[in-house]
Parts: sequence; C-alpha cells; structure tokens
Amino acid sequence: MAVSHLSDDEQMLIEAIQEIAREQVAPRAAEIDHTSQFPWDMKELLAQQDILAMLFPDEYGGIGSSELAVVMAIEELARYCATTSLILAVQQLGSLPIMLVGNEQQKSKYLPPLASGEWLAAFGLTEAGSGSDAAAMQTFAVRKSDKYILNGSKRFITNGGLAQVNSIFAITDPKVGTRGISAFIVEKDFPGFSVGRIEEKMGIKGSQTAELIFTDCEVPAENLLGREGDGFKFAMMTLDRTRPGVAAQAVGISQGALDLALSYAKQRIQFKKPIADNQGIQFMLADMATKVEAARLLVYNAAEMIDRR
Ligand SMILES: Cc1cc2nc3c(=O)[nH]c(=O)nc-3n(C[C@H](O)[C@H](O)[C@H](O)COP(=O)(O)OP(=O)(O)OC[C@H]3O[C@@H](n4cnc5c(N)ncnc54)[C@H](O)[C@@H]3O)c2cc1C
Repeated sequence: MAVSHLSDDEQMLIEAIQEIAREQVAPRAAEIDHTSQFPWDMKELLAQQDILAMLFPDEYGGIGSSELAVVMAIEELARYCATTSLILAVQQLGSLPIMLVGNEQQKSKYLPPLASGEWLAAFGLTEAGSGSDAAAMQTFAVRKSDKYILNGSKRFITNGGLAQVNSIFAITDPKVGTRGISAFIVEKDFPGFSVGRIEEKMGIKGSQTAELIFTDCEVPAENLLGREGDGFKFAMMTLDRTRPGVAAQAVGISQGALDLALSYAKQRIQFKKPIADNQGIQFMLADMATKVEAARLLVYNAAEMIDRR
C-alpha cells in the first residue's frame, strides 16, 4: 500500500524490505521456529541492509527513519517471520532510553555499535512479581563510590543474555515509589551479571526471552541514565514510543495468516471447485481483511502521532 507520509527514500526502503522479507526471511521462518535458536543470520541481514540503522540518528551511524517507516518495516518482516521482526523492534526498545535521555558520552559510546548491528540491545523492566505493575520491582541499586551495585532479577527479557547493552531499571530510593526508580546501561560483561531461566514459548521461538540476574553487579556510575529517580519516567517514555512496534508485529503476523488462508482457499478443491468460490468462505476472508486493515491504520496513526511530537 502506498503511503503518502513516507519520504521517497523511505518508500523505496520499505519496498526493498518487502522483497528482502519475501526472498530471504520467509525461507528461514519455519526452521527458526522449529529449532528455537536465535537467528544470527537474520540479525546480520538486518544489519547489512541498514534496517537496524533505521532506528538511529545519522550522527550515530543510523539513517534516522520516521516511526511510520519503522512500524512498516516491523510489519513487513513479521508477515513472514515474527522472530526476525522482533530483532528490529527490540533493538529500538533497548536502545531508546539511551537515545532519549543518554548524555553525549553515553550516546557516542553505545549508539554506533547498536546502529551497525554489531551489538544487540535489551530492555529490562519486568520482574517475576512486577509485570503490568512495573513499579512493584524489587531490583535495587546502591551507590558505592564510583559504582552502583545492582541486586535482583528481571524476567521475560527479550534478547536477554544475547544483548551486549541492557537498559535496566532498579530502585535507588525505596521510600519515594516510582520517583525512586533509576535507569542504567548495563553491559553483559559487567561483573555480577548472569542469565537465568530461558523461557520456552509457544511462538516467536527464535527470540530469546530470558531471566537476567544481578548479584552485586557492578555498574560504573557514569552508566546512570539521566538523574537518579527519573528511571520510571524514562521507562514509560520508551514504552509509549515502542508499543506501536509490537502492534505492527501483530498486524504483520495477521497479514501473513490472511495471505496463507487466501492462498489455501484458492487452491483447495472440494466438490470440484476451489473452496474460495463458496460465499461463506469469502465472507470470512473479507472480514479478516477488514480487521487487518483497520488494525494497520490504527498502528500507522499511532506512529504518525509519534513522528509529529
Ligand atoms: C514474549 C515476551 C517478551 C517480553 N519482553 C520483555 C522485555 O524485553 N522487557 C521487559 O521488561 N518485559 C518484557 N516482557 C514482559 C511484558 O512486558 C509483561 O509480560 C507485561 O508487562 C505483562 O506482565 P505479566 O506478564 O506479568 O502479566 P500481569 O501483569 O501479571 O497481568 C496478567 C493479566 O492481568 C491483567 N491485568 C493486570 N493488571 C490489571 C488491571 N489493573 N486491570 C485489569 N487487568 C489487569 C493483564 O492485562 C493480564 O491479562 C515480555 C513478555 C513476553 C511474553
């Protein structure tokens, strides 16, 4: 579908991504799902084709795409492989706290290798006891001279253990509720960082969803993002801007299901004709197409609202 709000360059990029998804991602999708292995080759593909670079500003090695182009890219990849689409979506989720509130030193250290795809990013907010109620977290960070010492664990972290760069949220002042939560950039090589349980999932199986454990984990004080106590606000700002990407993934998966249903209905012969010739089947396909298109327009609308801010 042609969208007038993309620049000409973005329109060309989305068309290129459609072709890459169809020609190079689709043939890998079933195997990724069967093996439940993270597809490093797909990560390389997204890196080489500058698809990961879409998320980052020019000055840090990116190509500075609009949010509309980003959600369309996620959608096109998800149409064939949800795992591959999540590589793009979570690179944004994990990197956005640094982009939104990182200082110059943090941005110039971390963003270029994330834009090139050399490093993956992860976002660590959820814990065993804090899901929707993110403020109920029990991971603590205590300042000791030039370091923060983190203790606790995070649950359901996409790219957990694979990502070099982790945006992690922890309590620095337990007395003041959400105003006592701070955000840190935690590298996976920092002492005291380890990976616990890896989830066995029903879908997007090639995407690693892991528990992260912090045992006296040493984080340099310079890796605090923004000011102490602003972390919860940063987490919400990040989620506001990245949840449309998750919705785009759902739209892409739905479109993929519709494509398959339509193709099957056209080629399956019963009573000497394709089942698609039956009006009852046509009603179902028309309803599916209407709902997918309605969902798509909601997602594009949300992305354009982000671009206008
Ligand atoms: C595949 C996958 C990847 C993920 N990746 C990440 C990640 O990278 N980083 C990260 O930090 N987190 C991640 N998460 C965690 C995700 O953000 C949480 O699952 C989500 O916040 C919901 O938390 P929960 O699963 O504990 O559900 P709960 O909060 O326990 O909710 C259970 C049910 O109760 C409902 N509910 C909760 N509160 C209310 C209420 N007030 N009113 C009405 N209903 C309510 C919910 O809608 C839900 O249906 C991931 C999760 C999954 C499944």
